[in-house]
Amino acid sequence: MPGLIPESLQKKLSERLSYYQDLGINHFYRDRTSAIPSSAELLTEFSAGPTGSIAISNEELTLPKPSRAPQLLKSIPISSEISKTVPLPVLAGPSLFESLDRIVDDTLLKVRSDLGDCTRCKLHSMRHTIVFGDGNPKAELVFVGEGPGADEDAQGLPFVGRAGKLLTQMIEAMGLQRKDVYICNVVKCRPPENRLPEEDEVKTCSPFLFRQIDVIAPKVIVCLGAVAAKTLLQTNRGISQFRGQWLEYRGRKLMATYHPAYLLRNPNAKGEVWKDLQKVMAVLGLQPKKGKPA
Ligand code: SF4
Repeated sequence: MPGLIPESLQKKLSERLSYYQDLGINHFYRDRTSAIPSSAELLTEFSAGPTGSIAISNEELTLPKPSRAPQLLKSIPISSEISKTVPLPVLAGPSLFESLDRIVDDTLLKVRSDLGDCTRCKLHSMRHTIVFGDGNPKAELVFVGEGPGADEDAQGLPFVGRAGKLLTQMIEAMGLQRKDVYICNVVKCRPPENRLPEEDEVKTCSPFLFRQIDVIAPKVIVCLGAVAAKTLLQTNRGISQFRGQWLEYRGRKLMATYHPAYLLRNPNAKGEVWKDLQKVMAVLGLQPKKGKPA
């Protein structure tokens, strides 16, 4: 049917617009020039993971006519349907550059402020406190867990229960203190009965995690457990397939290891985690203070 784009592309466009809204960007500029993004830029943008950049926002999203990018259109298979005009909602508001400024000038305070008294997902109804994150806003090392537990929900701080105490020991064994690192979770509200966060909850809350990481700009991210690793790496692979290997999240080094709660149930795995943390220490130039955690 004329004017339609493939369903998969529509879905990606819809997800991308939701992502911008979660970033606090609610206005999209109206194109006043002929500077239409190239089809390569559009396709890259749609197919990439979250990048924090803004590529499209128009009264009408129009892909270039073949005469504008003949080489491109030869090399990239574009359905003739895509090259038609796709109507988007007409939104008045600040320019693209004002929105970009907002990203460039982002701070943890702004991220927290945008999160507000969040009711974006169903976890809000069961929480006592939003657990945003804690630690050094300029940390070289960020730990990401999956979500708050009962103690965290009560205190509003991440990793303060039994698993948190173990994490603190691990951090100190690395020659650091908790105040030197930043600790946060994928979801900011406690899942009931300490269940794993569900897909929709992760999808809704994770843009705030992405922003936190962008603002802090750490050298190394340590994912504690599968939920954090899968969220940042956008993978469904089991953590055992990549635990202990250096990976990358948006240009930053990422190490996935076991969650401290897992270590409480499986103390034999502590040695594996310590090996992972030693790799992190090597990159950060840290010397252990107390040997491996108890
Ligand atoms: S988990 Fe995140 S998205 Fe869901 S209500 Fe809490 S803060 Fe909002």
